[in-house]
Amino acid sequence: MLTELDPALPHAVRAELAREAVDAARRGAIAPDEVSRDARERARVLSLALLGPVVNATGVLLHTNLGRAPLGAAALDSMTRASGYTNVEYRLAEGVRGSRHEHAGSLLARACGAEAGIVVNNNAAAVLLVLATLARGRSVLVSRGELVEIGGGFRIPEILAETGARLIEVGTTNRTRLSDYERARSAEVALVLKVHTSNYRMIGFVASTSVAELARFDELVVVDAGSGLLDETTPWLRERPPWLRDELGVRQCIEAGAALVTFSGDKLLGGPQAGIIVGRRALVDRLKAHPLARALRADKLTLAGLQAIAHAYLSSDAASIPFWRMACEPVDALRVRAEVIAAGVPGVKVVDTEAVAGGGTLPGLTIPSCGVAVEPPSVNALTARLRAARIVPRVDDDRVVCDLRTVDPADDARLAAALRAPDGRPR
Ligand SMILES: *Cc1c(COP(=O)(O)O)cnc(C)c1O
Repeated sequence: MLTELDPALPHAVRAELAREAVDAARRGAIAPDEVSRDARERARVLSLALLGPVVNATGVLLHTNLGRAPLGAAALDSMTRASGYTNVEYRLAEGVRGSRHEHAGSLLARACGAEAGIVVNNNAAAVLLVLATLARGRSVLVSRGELVEIGGGFRIPEILAETGARLIEVGTTNRTRLSDYERARSAEVALVLKVHTSNYRMIGFVASTSVAELARFDELVVVDAGSGLLDETTPWLRERPPWLRDELGVRQCIEAGAALVTFSGDKLLGGPQAGIIVGRRALVDRLKAHPLARALRADKLTLAGLQAIAHAYLSSDAASIPFWRMACEPVDALRVRAEVIAAGVPGVKVVDTEAVAGGGTLPGLTIPSCGVAVEPPSVNALTARLRAARIVPRVDDDRVVCDLRTVDPADDARLAAALRAPDGRPR
């Protein structure tokens, strides 16, 4: 029976699943002649629970549940080359101990015009490290319109409390003026924290204060830029995509006078999971020296991947970053692929869709896209079949939609095969 179970599972795991199936039969939970089928089903469910590749047909480019930004060949190659021994904390030129912040962190700082940079585990860790280092036991001014929850339980007021900093709320939910910050200033205040409202959008009677205005104060201005658009003029693209609208650039925050800017590695930057902090050298040096920096540090593979991403930005090579390549693919090219799929599968139609950046970035903004749609007799049955083939579609009422903007063209044939009804008949 063991040979019938997924051979990718270790022998001991397959043996355990077979035992569980036999026990289920002994208990009377299944019929004796169902033991084999039950064991195969247990193996199938376990295999699907383990990490592996999926086809993201949701149209959400930075899907947090699907691993956010996919990595391209350049990043992977760099990670592979660093996977053995590597000079992560060793200066080859001098033969002395080095620092893991000398490569990826410095290059990313250079790519956005900052003096220095440091890489930690993720952006939540970056915010934590900044507040713990600069504001413990002191006060931090935050606009009431920016006391946000990012998702996964990351709430700005709670992170602040965790680092032993005191939160001073400034302004109102919809409007915070420079004079509100002005009134809240005191010797107690360590810094002004500006949190990019990256996952929601306020419209109507609203006002906020820019980094440039806040930078006129003596207090440090720290920006949690979240999504990590390195430069809002996107010099690595031929033209600035309209769906970026007014997204804040890290370079522009630095130019406006921010002392430090934090952002994620796996959102609009398009790299591996990481938190990046760039800004004034003296402050970055203090972050590096804090005990938490050791606890939150990034590993050599992440640093190697980010180094390749930094190289790509520094040479304006957006094509090597899958996020930008997929986000900027012309709709017509997607339509051609959708037509090929639809022509080969009865009951499948080409549909215009709207992709989104996702991952808590660019709220309310959509990227025109194209895909294929089916109206199956049972939406649940079709989505279960697709998921069994490791394909994650979007469900839109009675339709199952596969948005091609997030699908690698190499997976189109697999997608078509999975959409084809098992009996080959039109739905
Ligand atoms: C995404 C985001 C975070 C959290 O970043 P992670 O890399 O997911 O830890 C924090 N702040 C803002 C503004 C964000 O957009």
